[in-house]
Amino acid sequence: MPHADPQQSSPIQIDVAIVGAGFAGMYLIHRLRGHGFTVRAYEAGSDVGGTWFWNRYPGCRVDIISPEYSYEFSEELQQEWEWSERYATQPELLRYANHVADRFDLRRDIQFSTRVIGSTFDEGSARWAVTTDRGDEVSAQYLILATGLLSATNLPPIPGIDSFSGDIYHTGKWPQSPVDFTGKRVAVIGTGSSGCQAIPLIAEQAEQVTVFQRTANYLIPAHNKPLAPATSRAIKQNYKEFRAHNKTYPFAFFFEAIDKSALEVSAEEREQAYEEAWGRGGLMFLGTFNDLITSEEANLTAQEFFRNKLRAVVKDPLTAEQLMPDFNLGCKRLIVGTDYYETYNRANVSLVSIKDSGIDEIASGGIVVGAEQYDCDVIVLATGFDAITGPIMAIDITGRNGTAIRDKWKDGPSCYLGLMPEGFPNLFTITGPGSPSILSNVIKSIEQHVDFIADCISRVRENGDEVVEATAEAEAAWVSHVDEIATETVFKSCNSWYLGSNIPGKPRVFTGYVGWPEYAAELDDIVKDNYRGFRIGKAGA
Ligand code: NAP
Repeated sequence: MPHADPQQSSPIQIDVAIVGAGFAGMYLIHRLRGHGFTVRAYEAGSDVGGTWFWNRYPGCRVDIISPEYSYEFSEELQQEWEWSERYATQPELLRYANHVADRFDLRRDIQFSTRVIGSTFDEGSARWAVTTDRGDEVSAQYLILATGLLSATNLPPIPGIDSFSGDIYHTGKWPQSPVDFTGKRVAVIGTGSSGCQAIPLIAEQAEQVTVFQRTANYLIPAHNKPLAPATSRAIKQNYKEFRAHNKTYPFAFFFEAIDKSALEVSAEEREQAYEEAWGRGGLMFLGTFNDLITSEEANLTAQEFFRNKLRAVVKDPLTAEQLMPDFNLGCKRLIVGTDYYETYNRANVSLVSIKDSGIDEIASGGIVVGAEQYDCDVIVLATGFDAITGPIMAIDITGRNGTAIRDKWKDGPSCYLGLMPEGFPNLFTITGPGSPSILSNVIKSIEQHVDFIADCISRVRENGDEVVEATAEAEAAWVSHVDEIATETVFKSCNSWYLGSNIPGKPRVFTGYVGWPEYAAELDDIVKDNYRGFRIGKAGA
């Protein structure tokens, strides 16, 4: 395997350059090596883990049940790893990533602390010239963007932010050593999953916490608990069936909906079903009835149940009202959390609604909203990410005819199957826009895409071909299909990062494919149909 040498005069030659060494990049290395490809991954962080490397804020944990949110490509790995809790914490997930890297000896093909800054497709040789911020020059037949869905942090352009005299932390780029909030007045901006997971833990330590909320969201209790050894044993005895079964659900994790409309049952039956779902906790709440995602009227019944729960927990009626979301439940990703609403009953926690006003500015001593300044020593930005396309468009990527990906996607991302943008031959995106990624158990989507790509490029090589590219017709048909399905759901009825509408100026396009099993069947069908929608041939042809 060739290794990069920044002093070299000619680019190193490899089969596949991978951007990112999170869960996607790691599995790519393993799988492609197995097919005899030379690979190298470039990772901006100093170690593996991606999301779980960067998001080290207090309370950070996964919202899909741990034995599901894990690789299935190796039976030995599945059997040997023990998850300790229903929803694993970030440190446990990072230990898992490190274990995988060690077990499969992945690090020898990863260059850490290196950011890919540009890549250009050469039409004559059908190869990608890749450059990094460390001066590497790489020539690769394939470029695979394993850049993650939520890796480009959103730093809101609030006036005066640079004049703040205290420390500012973003949840998505948290320091490697723990932050001590003891005796501090902390301001938290943002109440998505990251903010809502962090706030209860910060409040236990800090002198005072002020939460700045632009949009109230729905939080369902996690009911996290240790994973009973008997549960773990039972899953391991039938891991293959467990995985196969979970992939029959719309989001590729266990999601058993009552096969009835919320509107066809009596009020008592409905209340009881919601109560049971609330008692089970987690994302599955959205599956209490089979039409919560597709019918606004059905969705209203879930909203009403939720509001009553919230009123029963939060003691101050004004705070409770401010915490009530005003959009369809599940339109933004549901938050799975612990003690979030209860935290507002603490004397050291207060909520400031900035729904109508926004934040005027950040002064040296605090946050200014209207005529009032809220003094603080520390600001936590839980302001989310420029999702999916953000990390891709941060790289200067140029495809056929000198077209830049930034230009191609300026009015919204178009990508065949979420796997390959047309005009960018031999370039693949893992869990890219238009695949189930954002709505799914992403580890299942990662494995699915990696397996598809490994098989596809092996086929290209076996046939003596050099180029695979998406056709314009296939891409256009796919993009409108994705939108058509999303239009039948509540997902487009609010502003969310699913649509890119959390980032000022970003085109509003729904970037997820609703229906994991249907998507999987379509991929199988495309392969059987000789990679329908892809053109495969020789370089320069
Ligand atoms: P997010 O859901 O996008 O939430 C960002 C928050 O910051 C929102 O409340 C947003 O308000 C607010 N915000 C953004 N810009 C602002 C500004 N200029 N002024 C004031 N408020 C501003 O981001 P996130 O919480 O990091 O979560 C993103 C996704 O990551 C989640 O949906 C989930 O998929 C994943 N995640 C999962 C877990 C887990 O449980 N496993 C934990 C963390 C993250 P608006 O809503 O008004 O835009």
